[in-house]
Amino acid sequence: FARKIGFNDSSGGIAASGGTLSNLNALIAARHNAGLSSDSNSVILISEDAHSSFIKCTRIMGLDETNLVRIKTDNKGCMDIKNLTEIIDKCSLINKKIIAIVATLGTTVRGAIDPIKDISRICKERNIWLHIDGSIGGVFAITSIPIEGLKNVNQANSITINPQKIIGITKTSSLLLVSDMSTLENTFST
Ligand SMILES: *Cc1c(COP(=O)(O)O)cnc(C)c1O
Repeated sequence: FARKIGFNDSSGGIAASGGTLSNLNALIAARHNAGLSSDSNSVILISEDAHSSFIKCTRIMGLDETNLVRIKTDNKGCMDIKNLTEIIDKCSLINKKIIAIVATLGTTVRGAIDPIKDISRICKERNIWLHIDGSIGGVFAITSIPIEGLKNVNQANSITINPQKIIGITKTSSLLLVSDMSTLENTFST
C-alpha cells in the first residue's frame, strides 16, 4: 500500500484498529522525530475542520486541547495557507515547538481536501513533519481514480488510511503508512 501511494523503498506501515489509533501513532512518531516529549510548549497544527480524534490523541500524549492549534479554513472547508504560515511564524516567535502539521484528505463533514502541495512545501522548508489524515479520502490514493487533491500525498511523512469508512468495510480497520519505516522503529522499538 505504501508503494502504491507513491512512497519509496524506505516506506512501510502498520495496521491499527481505527483511524484514531493511526493518527495517534503518527503523532507520537512525529514528536519523537522532532526530539520532543510531553512538553506542554509543543503544538500540533490542524485545521478548524479536522477530526475530533486529535483531541483524544493529545490526551493520550499527555497534552491537552491547548496543544492543538487550529488553522482557519476557507469557505470550502480547506486549510487556509496564509493563516497556516502566520501561525507557524507566531509559534516560532513565542517559542512553541511544532510536533506536526496535520492535513486532512477529506474532512468528515464537508469532504474538503486541504492543499497538500502547499502544505508539504511549507513542511519541507521548515523541517516539520507532515501527517495526512486520510481516514475518509486517503483510500482513493491507492486507486487509479484521478482526483486532483490526491497528488502529492507521497510528500507526507505519514498518512492514515481507513478502509472501513468510505469503501464500506464493516470491520473497523486502518493503516498508518510512513515514508520512512525507521521513524516508527526508532519511536517504538525497545
Ligand atoms: C472517522 C475519522 C477518524 C477516526 O477514525 P476511527 O476509525 O473512527 O477511529 C479520523 N479522521 C477522520 C477525518 C475521520 O473521518
